[in-house]
Amino acid sequence: MQSSEFHDKETDVTVIGCGPVGLFAVFQCGMLGLRTQVIDVLDAVGGQCIALYPDKPIYDIPSHPVISARGLIEQLCKQIAPFKAGFHLGQVALRLVGAGENWTVVTAKGCEITSRAVFVAAGAGSLQPNRPNLRRLEEFEDKSVFYAVRDIADFSGRSVVIAGGGDSAVDWCIALAELCTVTLVHRRPNFRAAPESERRLRALIEAERVKLVAPAQLQDLEGEGGQLTGVVVSEPNGPRLLSASRLLLCYGLLNDVGPLSGWGLALQVNKVLVDPTTMQTNLPGIYAIGDIASFPGKLKLILNGFAEAAIAAHHAFGRCRPGELLRFEYSTAKGVPTVS
Ligand SMILES: Cc1cc2nc3c(=O)[nH]c(=O)nc-3n(C[C@H](O)[C@H](O)[C@H](O)COP(=O)(O)OP(=O)(O)OC[C@H]3O[C@@H](n4cnc5c(N)ncnc54)[C@H](O)[C@@H]3O)c2cc1C
Repeated sequence: MQSSEFHDKETDVTVIGCGPVGLFAVFQCGMLGLRTQVIDVLDAVGGQCIALYPDKPIYDIPSHPVISARGLIEQLCKQIAPFKAGFHLGQVALRLVGAGENWTVVTAKGCEITSRAVFVAAGAGSLQPNRPNLRRLEEFEDKSVFYAVRDIADFSGRSVVIAGGGDSAVDWCIALAELCTVTLVHRRPNFRAAPESERRLRALIEAERVKLVAPAQLQDLEGEGGQLTGVVVSEPNGPRLLSASRLLLCYGLLNDVGPLSGWGLALQVNKVLVDPTTMQTNLPGIYAIGDIASFPGKLKLILNGFAEAAIAAHHAFGRCRPGELLRFEYSTAKGVPTVS
């Protein structure tokens, strides 16, 4: 999905965030004849699925017994292609201006999009990883030190140190143990991961296919020109050098809604409060869907986000097409509308 030049500054719905839920919102709006423009701070569509776990299998997408996160995003891109949405990638949605009938979203690159409705599908915020305080870290970032596995082949056959103790660290140990030499560094000998994942990790440690260094903390990086040769860890009885050509830092994401916090939206612990019957926020015409939305009983799952996108689109239709009757129709009955 390419970033598009955008001259027409008006649309029906502005979608902020093109993770799986923002992408599916394009589909739901399109099925109702609503035009969309989508903004994302990342250079690629897909949100967490592409930024954090493109090669992991997902098992709970209806009708896909298993699909990789990348595969899911590819399918969504195919599904929304008929609707010709505009994409404005690599730019953060900075300001929300207006009230009443129309809203204008202004991006950091000065793009202004005016619409009757805005869907905030901003997930966990602008996906900034937690960065440890390590000397020369920037020199190695995106060359041999990573916060996510974007291309699993880049790790194959390497000596990899994984740092962290949550789901992400544990899952990557399991996935990479088949392809490379893995050392897991964690400040405690126990983990905060799904019980089944932890059981599989313990079995790999037992079988000496993953080496556990714990309790230990990262202390320093060794190497030149961005190419890592070793990681120094501090253990209770002193520092130790671990040989490594890749370091995967799994310290979680900063859960920060960033600029959205100044938009006048009712927030609760960095989530946007919505009425779950419409997905509308406290601001009329501003909706929140997917991981960023909060309401009693909320489940942070992709499948729930998809349903929230459908609810928001049906409610937003009334704002975008005042006076027009929305007749509920199944897709089997009406097919996919064509957009010229
Ligand atoms: C390792 C891992 C495994 C997972 N496994 C599963 C699973 O098996 N099943 C499942 O259902 N869920 C799973 N999830 C959760 C799932 O990925 C999320 O629920 C889903 O990505 C939420 O989609 P979203 O579109 O709401 O948000 P996101 O995917 O977070 O996308 C939000 C997008 O908004 C952008 N954004 C944020 N703020 C701004 C701004 N101000 N301006 C511009 N852009 C902005 C971000 O850059 C991002 O691209 C997993 C998550 C992780 C981390």
